[in-house]
Amino acid sequence: MRIDIVTLFPELCDSFLHASILGRAADKGLFEAHCHQIRDYTKNKQKQTDDYPYGGGCGMVLYAQPIADCIRAVQAQCAEQGRPRPHVAFLTAAGAPYNEQTARRLATYDSLILVCGHYEGIDERVIEAFGDEEISIGDYVLTGGELASLVVADSVLRLQPGVLAEEKGYQEESYWDGLIEYPQYTRPEVWEGRAVPPVLLTGDHDKIDAWRGKQSRARTRARRPDLYDRWCRTHPLTPPSWK
Ligand code: SAM
Repeated sequence: MRIDIVTLFPELCDSFLHASILGRAADKGLFEAHCHQIRDYTKNKQKQTDDYPYGGGCGMVLYAQPIADCIRAVQAQCAEQGRPRPHVAFLTAAGAPYNEQTARRLATYDSLILVCGHYEGIDERVIEAFGDEEISIGDYVLTGGELASLVVADSVLRLQPGVLAEEKGYQEESYWDGLIEYPQYTRPEVWEGRAVPPVLLTGDHDKIDAWRGKQSRARTRARRPDLYDRWCRTHPLTPPSWK
């Protein structure tokens, strides 16, 4: 997979994508990640990227032209590599709420362009012209789309084959099957008077799986009743004692 981030702060995004688990995976060639400076695509002498909003109001709006040209340049690079047309997602506070289902869908694209706004946002016309979708990472407003693009890139790239040590790793985590995860423990067996649940020390994997399933359902029911109701609807054959 190839991911391209279009931003005014490429160095911020680049350092994240080339550190830790993702950095090691990129070094192994499991994906390509590139961050592009919008300013490099401006056509005015001052390399200005934004201007006052038509109709008045506070803040500045990013020009359509440099963003469009940057996306076109990435599209051309992908075509040269023989890749299909990249999917383009704009990070906006007004976009569709992001979740694990969306991450799984985006992970199926060969190449993905993530466009970050800043200041008051982006000229709507470039979103209309190039955007396949708009994504919001939550009901709050950030100063820019960089963190949002990294949230999307991280959650998508960890699903690429080989990025996590074990594929089962992400299938056992929160949201994969619609529930949140059971609690995790490591050594020591007793920490400051708090013992690890005894079942985890039995070595009986059927019992451990049953306990974890129960914890997962109970936590989801208590913390995310919205998710729990949806899970119950999609698991109609679940024994009533489980619910
Ligand atoms: N004027 C916009 C509004 O009221 O919806 C907010 C602009 S925000 C200050 C600047 C940029 O941050 C946006 O263009 C977008 O790229 C990014 N951003 C802010 N909140 C976001 C969110 N919840 N999800 C994704 N991107 C967000």
